[in-house]
Amino acid sequence: MALITRDDKHKPAPVPGPYLPSTARGEPDVPARTPLTPWNLLAAIAEGAWTIVLGHWVTLVSFFRPKITDQYPHRDPRRDWQPRPGYRGDFALISNKEAGRLNCTACMACANICPSGCIWIEGEGKAKDRVAVQFYVDTGLCQYCWLCVEACPFDAITMTPDYETAADSAAKLIRDIDYLRARGLEYEHALKPAEVEQPAEETAEESS
Ligand code: SF4
Ligand code: SF4
Repeated sequence: MALITRDDKHKPAPVPGPYLPSTARGEPDVPARTPLTPWNLLAAIAEGAWTIVLGHWVTLVSFFRPKITDQYPHRDPRRDWQPRPGYRGDFALISNKEAGRLNCTACMACANICPSGCIWIEGEGKAKDRVAVQFYVDTGLCQYCWLCVEACPFDAITMTPDYETAADSAAKLIRDIDYLRARGLEYEHALKPAEVEQPAEETAEESS
């Protein structure tokens, strides 16, 4: 009786037919080389020369193309540019300018609905006198979903079209109540998603 060793048992079965290595099929292991004839040599030289010409042509065309250098952020070439309606940018808290206080009553609806947990609020007072005294939004965590604005029953928080939110540290991405209040002075009301008007050309495209 033949002794079956552990190595024999784990040896992979030979792969049939065309999957065998070329040498096992009796074929040469290396692909046939292009024969070195004068014609082939000339064709190879011509191909090499053409790639050099092509590369220089691309360089030449780029050389005469008008150059555009954006001195951003010192000079913003898009200064007359505005994001599309409904763009969700930086945050602001709306104030009741007559009463001289924020609309926010620290009801926590926005903080509770926020899927990223990036709103932190502290309130003071009771019932209609209740007002937010601390309000933080961590825009580094925010996913700009607009749920907080939709959930707010007091027209107190909004997202502005301001897209300049980049910062060089995570701490600078956290907006506090003073920042949010100052930014909100430009706004009378929070912009709700349902109020966003689509540009005329988009509406025409959809209806066609
Ligand atoms: S936009 Fe969305 S993720 Fe950002 S603070 Fe509001 S609810 Fe949270
Ligand atoms: S912003 Fe609106 S939803 Fe959020 S705590 Fe203030 S009042 Fe409530």
